[in-house]
Amino acid sequence: MKRTKILATYGPSISTPDKIARLIAAGANAFRVNCSHSTTKELYAATEVIRKGSAKARFPVGLLFDISGPKLRLDRFEGEVEIKAGETIILTKERSVPTDRMIGVNNEAVIDSLKKGERFYVDDGNIRFEITKAEKTRVTARALNDGVLLPSKGINLPDSDIKIPTISAKDKEDIAAAVKAGADYVALSFVRTGDDVLEAKKIIKRLGGEQRVIAKLEKREAISSLESIMLVSDGVMVARGDLGVELPYEDLPRLQKKIIKLSNYHHKPVSVATQMLESMRFSPRATRAEVNDVASAVFDYVDCVMLSAETASGKYPCEAVETMTTIIKANETANGRPALHIDNHFLKLEIPIAIAEAVSHSRERCQSEAIFAFTTSGFTAQMISNLYPSQPVIALTPLDRVLSQLSIFRSVYAVKITQPESFEDMTRIVGRVCREYKIATPGDVVIVTGGAPFGSTAPTNFMMFHKLEK
Ligand code: PGA
Ligand code: MN
Repeated sequence: MKRTKILATYGPSISTPDKIARLIAAGANAFRVNCSHSTTKELYAATEVIRKGSAKARFPVGLLFDISGPKLRLDRFEGEVEIKAGETIILTKERSVPTDRMIGVNNEAVIDSLKKGERFYVDDGNIRFEITKAEKTRVTARALNDGVLLPSKGINLPDSDIKIPTISAKDKEDIAAAVKAGADYVALSFVRTGDDVLEAKKIIKRLGGEQRVIAKLEKREAISSLESIMLVSDGVMVARGDLGVELPYEDLPRLQKKIIKLSNYHHKPVSVATQMLESMRFSPRATRAEVNDVASAVFDYVDCVMLSAETASGKYPCEAVETMTTIIKANETANGRPALHIDNHFLKLEIPIAIAEAVSHSRERCQSEAIFAFTTSGFTAQMISNLYPSQPVIALTPLDRVLSQLSIFRSVYAVKITQPESFEDMTRIVGRVCREYKIATPGDVVIVTGGAPFGSTAPTNFMMFHKLEK
């Protein structure tokens, strides 16, 4: 079992239950549904396909709804506009007139906030402009390089402090769809502060949902308020696509490492996203640089690596997942546990932490094949995952919601059980799971953690080395 998880983005290339099942067999652990291009009906249809495709999966598969947030775009004009460096275009609050090089945008605030001298980027920074004149209802922008403007392409304003709410009316509808669809996670795009995350959580709560919120780190402001975002979110994503436009992309490698470390410190799961195997959209083989990029995230102990267009619209979605799995397996065995700076001042429950620490480095003293965590909320399994044990962590819980939420945590695989009533119950369950999932064989030692007395929901308070009966 690989430790690093794979988050695959849903899209036309994998939109049948059969294709979903093949991706899971290849190593996908969770799916991301992108809300920016979907109607509510389409979101439910995607959920249905993913659920059907996951029905026979060995372990629960996670479902993440990606809320588009204030993604700025060109409007949906007809045709395309060819641009040469040095030429100018007009950005307008009105509708586009492409023949006159007048281009509209999806939010008037873009026009209001752009000032002379600021940069205006289109299509992940592939076409760059500088503002030469800013008027009330229109701004003039001069191209810094050649390119072709296509409708609905994304916009980035790396110099502007644009005042628009992070969660729009459409985003609220999408969050409601996530709750109704029973998604495990809501990923919030273009988060700027911890308050944005809290607002999403409030909306979810009001709707009666239990979705956890992942903050997508893709804005300069988010990097400035990393600590506050980390404190309140249930996980973060290094969203390198937009982040690499909002900030110079040469800053990404350092930031990626910093964010992964900080997430570990805050006990939050972290994913690395975008262009991990970009060339595999069109090719069955990855580039050497891409192989290195995935391995580098593995070496840094990320929880999840993500595939975007590679699985959503690429020609080789299954090969992309297989390639990631191969890279993960080849490289995570090679790295030992890192030296961790453990500071538990965020956590009140000390006994489960003490146990998580003890089991996570137990292999230095005694061989064991796996760590079994009887857990109601998933908390103990998450804590153990965060301490990077070299064994797989099998989380045993009766709660469906917890089962699939654990899908994005490094090393954790969840199995549904009925709450054990006795010590014998517990060892019987462990034995059965070992056999059924081929985790360990008779004679092997496994670690078991849980909360006694049995039948209650006592927090984790014991660990034991259990030798499987011959
Ligand atoms: P996106 O987010 O694919 O939704 O844009 C990820 C990123 O920006 O890297
Ligand atoms: Mn993005």
